[in-house]
Amino acid sequence: MGLESALPVDSVLSTQLNRVVNWARRSSVWPMPFATACCGIELMATACSRFDLARFGAEVMRFSPRQSDLLIVAGRVSVKTLPVLQRIYMQMVEPKWVISMGACASTGGVFDTYAVVQGVDQFIPVDIYVPGCPPRPEMLIEGIMAIQRIIDADNIPRDPEGKRLPLNIAVAPNYEPRPMPVPVTVGAS
Ligand code: SF4
Repeated sequence: MGLESALPVDSVLSTQLNRVVNWARRSSVWPMPFATACCGIELMATACSRFDLARFGAEVMRFSPRQSDLLIVAGRVSVKTLPVLQRIYMQMVEPKWVISMGACASTGGVFDTYAVVQGVDQFIPVDIYVPGCPPRPEMLIEGIMAIQRIIDADNIPRDPEGKRLPLNIAVAPNYEPRPMPVPVTVGAS
């Protein structure tokens, strides 16, 4: 990694143990994808070559909750599916993190019906809300980087009894939409 050329031979490095642990944790976040709808396609794109989630050490999607520490809920969750989501969350290892990706996961989106959960944060703790319908891969990466910054700062919020509190961070869009390349007109010949 170039370290051996930057440091003198036989040198010694000293640091704090929790800095090393946090560095390792934030560099190897293993996501558990819970992709139920169209947002899942953007999640797949995030891991593919154009966006390359591997640059952030978070491309190892695990389909076993016991090997995952980042739950990404991508898409609408039906009331019938909810117990499965909760079970997966409970089976994941600590410390664990949750991203609610897209309008449907965070609020039910356009599916304002009795059969769709109107926000998964009513049933599992959510750390990061990624807005959009669907969010672009850059937005999801922004959400993952927010979690990495929290891990790096050793800043896991807990209540006085030591119980882990959700971060409740909403990622803000960081881009300006471009103007339409061709003006849209209706009925023009
Ligand atoms: S937020 Fe939009 S893109 Fe994502 S699952 Fe819902 S309808 Fe599909």
